[in-house]
Amino acid sequence: MENRITPPASHEFYFGSFNMTNTCTRCGSTRILAKTWEEVVELYSRKTTITHSQFVCPDSKCQKQVEDQLTQIREKREYAEHQKEIAKAEKLKENAKAAAARLL
Ligand SMILES: [Zn+2]
Repeated sequence: MENRITPPASHEFYFGSFNMTNTCTRCGSTRILAKTWEEVVELYSRKTTITHSQFVCPDSKCQKQVEDQLTQIREKREYAEHQKEIAKAEKLKENAKAAAARLL
């Protein structure tokens, strides 16, 4: 719930609205536009083109650290998701076992 109004993490990709504070969260430098690209997505069965922009810190060392941090966060999240999947599979197995036991 608390995360709801938090803007996307610094250096993260986000949709092309530029009205967010465009400064590096680590060093406070104004970030520079590294690249933009377009993506066609289907939204409510209508095709829409979204322009993505990636901003990076002008200090490449700082940028690298932010990216490492993001990677860590992502990995942690993926790990948690993975654990959830395993737990779900285990539960299904348990349920199947219990059902089989009832049949015996
Ligand atoms: Zn920076």
